[in-house]
Amino acid sequence: MALYEKTAAELSELLGKKEISALELAQDVLARTSAVEDKVQGYVTVTQETALETAKVVDEKRAAGEALSPMAGIPIAVKDNICTKGTLTTCASKMLYNFKPPYNATVVEKLAANNVVITGKANMDEFAMGSSCENSAAHPTYNPHGLNRVPGGSSGGSAAVVAAGEVPLSLGSDTGGSIRQPASFCGVVGLKPTYGAVSRYGLIAFASSLDQIGPFGRSVEDTAMLFDAITGHDPMHDSTSVKTAFEGSVRKNLNPDIKGIKIGLPKEYFGAGVTEEVRRNVMAAAETYRNLGAEVFEISLPLVEYALPVYYILSSAEASSNLARFDGVKYGYRTPNAADDLIELYVKSRSEGFGAEVQRRIMLGTYVLSSGYYDAYYKKARAAQRKIREEFAAAFEKCDVILTPVAPTTAYEIGSKTTNPLEMYAGDVCTVSVNIAGLPALVQPCGFDGNKMPVGMQLIGPRFGEQQLMNTGLAFEQASGLKNLIAAL
Ligand code: GLN
Repeated sequence: MALYEKTAAELSELLGKKEISALELAQDVLARTSAVEDKVQGYVTVTQETALETAKVVDEKRAAGEALSPMAGIPIAVKDNICTKGTLTTCASKMLYNFKPPYNATVVEKLAANNVVITGKANMDEFAMGSSCENSAAHPTYNPHGLNRVPGGSSGGSAAVVAAGEVPLSLGSDTGGSIRQPASFCGVVGLKPTYGAVSRYGLIAFASSLDQIGPFGRSVEDTAMLFDAITGHDPMHDSTSVKTAFEGSVRKNLNPDIKGIKIGLPKEYFGAGVTEEVRRNVMAAAETYRNLGAEVFEISLPLVEYALPVYYILSSAEASSNLARFDGVKYGYRTPNAADDLIELYVKSRSEGFGAEVQRRIMLGTYVLSSGYYDAYYKKARAAQRKIREEFAAAFEKCDVILTPVAPTTAYEIGSKTTNPLEMYAGDVCTVSVNIAGLPALVQPCGFDGNKMPVGMQLIGPRFGEQQLMNTGLAFEQASGLKNLIAAL
């Protein structure tokens, strides 16, 4: 087995025992990247040189007897909306085509403290708006399990490079499903942490009240390992981050014994729009849980019907405000064309710098916040958000974990949904309520469809229920053997 085919946990052990060096490992995954990246196109930027340099430094530290974290020397890709000092961070937008941040995101500082080897910046939908990675101003990314299909989005690049064996771990961000839906489409594991469990400092904001950074891996254990490295209170830089009881200890406390846990299946998530193949695979996972001794029963979450409109109103409202700073003066691309006055300079810079989907969200957001419409849309959506939160809180009185599909379909063909934005938005129906309610959710593979494309399942937990989610995910992974699925390519 080549090094690039191993899980991060296996690699960590080999590195710790000095059976392999971080340099050898970096060279191996970079060679895999050279071999397959033409087909997958999961990266916007590959940082080959700095990766090799970092790996050498890690080896020197180990040789000198320094006590290192289990993550030391592990290669990781980082989504291109997470600030990396001195390395291009474009959000896959022309607006930030030349942006080299002068500082690191908190998560990147944490990765550095763990001596990981960052291999590059992963492709995404522009400013994290999209579900297919087709909104990238750089290029689309292709699903490693079926190159004519989308990898999902917006963290499509982060999921694809892990599925393709280009790297064992990566970071993405999730505002309405952007970690979970690509994880499902690419057959990997992804965690959307509880809001506040990971610092957002240095994550270029889409919708600040919903955004969270989270890990991708090819096993539950690997995903837990990366989560442990990035979670934590960040009092200096993110006042919405919190101190948690599990900080740094999820992997250590993994326990697949789930006898007696209560798993709810919300009937609304299995309704119209969800394909038979997705339904069948997720239901089969529910059966596996019954056999493992869990109590599995139907529940009802009727307000899911309102989740999509609530999400698109709230997220677009926040985006219109967050993206106001990119005006060609304070930040971002400036039009080279002549402008008669400041307003024209703004208009030209923003019209040329932002892609169509980003402009659509800004207009939608500005509309729902404008006087006369604010009460009808924004205020109503906030009220509905409260109801959705209450509904989940009530559900967690009855069950420990909720099991649902991740998306109504598996990965669809490139170009098949780009002409109809509403159809694209409809694919987010199973994921957005989790962000609206600020909850954690784990996605992992549970089977394949008739085209051999992966099907994922979603486990939703109560706030800060990450340990229980990971334990429940591990139990299924061990029972099903669905782990470390690397696309052949
Ligand atoms: N697909 C959703 C959207 O386009 C979610 C994106 C995200 O989570 N960043 O808004």
